[in-house]
Amino acid sequence: MTGSRFDYVVVGGGTAGAVVAARLAEDPEVTVCLLEAGPSDEGVREVLELRGWQGLLGSEEYGYDFEIEAQPQGNGDILHSRGTMLGGSSSHNSAIAFRPLDGDLRRWEEAGAAGWGPEGLGSYFEKVSRKVNMESSGAGNATVRAFIEAGKEAGFPEISFAEGVREGTGLFQLNKKGGLRQSSSVAYLHPLSGMPENLTVLTGARARRLLFEGGRAVGVETSRGTVRAGEEVVLCCGAFDSPKLLLLSGVGPAEQLQGLGLPVVADLPGVGENLLDHPEGVVMWESSRPVPEATSNFYEAGMFARVDPGADDPALMFHFGTQAFDLHTLPKGYPTAENAFSITPNVTRARSRGTVRLRSADHTVPPRIDFRYFTDPDGYDERIMTEGVNLARELAAQPALSEWVERELAPGAGVKGYREVSEYVRRTANTVYHPAGTCKMGSSEDHGSVVDPSLRVRGIEGLRVADASVFPVMISVNPCITCMMVGEKCADLIRGRAPAGASHGTSEA
Ligand SMILES: Cc1cc2nc3c(=O)[nH]c(=O)nc-3n(C[C@H](O)[C@H](O)[C@H](O)COP(=O)(O)OP(=O)(O)OC[C@H]3O[C@@H](n4cnc5c(N)ncnc54)[C@H](O)[C@@H]3O)c2cc1C
Repeated sequence: MTGSRFDYVVVGGGTAGAVVAARLAEDPEVTVCLLEAGPSDEGVREVLELRGWQGLLGSEEYGYDFEIEAQPQGNGDILHSRGTMLGGSSSHNSAIAFRPLDGDLRRWEEAGAAGWGPEGLGSYFEKVSRKVNMESSGAGNATVRAFIEAGKEAGFPEISFAEGVREGTGLFQLNKKGGLRQSSSVAYLHPLSGMPENLTVLTGARARRLLFEGGRAVGVETSRGTVRAGEEVVLCCGAFDSPKLLLLSGVGPAEQLQGLGLPVVADLPGVGENLLDHPEGVVMWESSRPVPEATSNFYEAGMFARVDPGADDPALMFHFGTQAFDLHTLPKGYPTAENAFSITPNVTRARSRGTVRLRSADHTVPPRIDFRYFTDPDGYDERIMTEGVNLARELAAQPALSEWVERELAPGAGVKGYREVSEYVRRTANTVYHPAGTCKMGSSEDHGSVVDPSLRVRGIEGLRVADASVFPVMISVNPCITCMMVGEKCADLIRGRAPAGASHGTSEA
């Protein structure tokens, strides 16, 4: 294995990485190696059957739970789970599928990601859709129907999220086919026996550091030996591990690297900064009648709400769960019930920013992850989340859903008023598991940007990043499909089919 040489080495066979590698290997003239730290997902029922996705939380074989720093304003007990296998977090997640809003992509362009607007990236949704099957979540659960009806009664029209996102309630689209998930590995790599000869997939190959010669990335040191890249290395390890690997390799803020005794290959102050997420709260009720078991993923419907009049895109999103979502309420003393349902508000474009930093120069040590939840100076995240709890309660009070309410389990009817609700929701908050932004894309004037709009790491030749870490700002919706779109566009950028700044970049699937 040591010394194997390929034109392109893609590090991380996750949501975006599987797409990048499969697309690059469509050119029979080039050789591609995909390095994945975890195992294959092929034929693994506990991974492929979507209904069981929560069984992968805490899985030692197919996932990793990152601990986070104590959160003075939020919940430091959150464990940030990531899929560690082919398909990455798309092999682990609940498969709620959205096209990013045009407004989100306009905000990307405004943040310096030229060529990544509604035309430049949005058009890749169709390309992903030709590979990844997306279908309605509806398993015919009567509680889900009651939630949608309650939304209508509260003034939020029923909408089809397949046609776009605006204020309203509806069934989600899921990237699945029947009961099976359509992860990036299922859609782009399976069957592994049918992969083209010029694509080598190495599982159980954890990258430890990138290798440079004269300011150029030339290979990767892995747990299975050294792999050399003749053309480019593409980093797709996700929002925690891509910055970690850059830092371990000497690419990052010089002061941080020197403090750990690491050589500075490129002084890039933005590596590991700008950590974004969707913080999520929960309101939970015991049901007065049995909640039906029929479900695709236990979170089949949702709602978007604007909150501030005049806001251009919704500030709040809600998932409706046909189960008790008591991960962080139960340990903090709130009651739970077998027969329950939940509404989970999340802040679609949260303003707090966190960091990912190295604890040690030892590659086996997890990074120090500090989301700084609810620390934005204007208190926007706290205000929107608190509004979310109020609105969730308003939904449950509507005739269609109130019939199902036995009692409010969390926070409980006694918790009232801004301060009490805010305290509850921040203390028990979870994440929607959407970390992003830690190798953000931006213009050359933005010294905090890590990659340029061609995804090239500033100051280094032959090195790109393509995964959720390049998001300059958060998108309003669940990001998995957007990560696949980033992978598609990255492959086109490498193949010269999508020059940065150009508005179009699709080709036939
Ligand atoms: C529990 C959960 C539920 C979610 N639900 C949804 C949902 O319903 N809808 C939605 O849109 N989004 C959802 N998400 C978020 C979404 O899945 C992620 O945002 C997205 O998959 C991230 O893609 P990525 O390419 O950035 O990283 P990943 O898909 O995480 O890929 C990173 C890959 O790199 C590998 N890797 C890491 N370090 C190394 C290394 N040193 N060497 C080699 N390989 C390495 C990892 O093993 C992994 O395969 C969920 C996430 C989780 C965890």
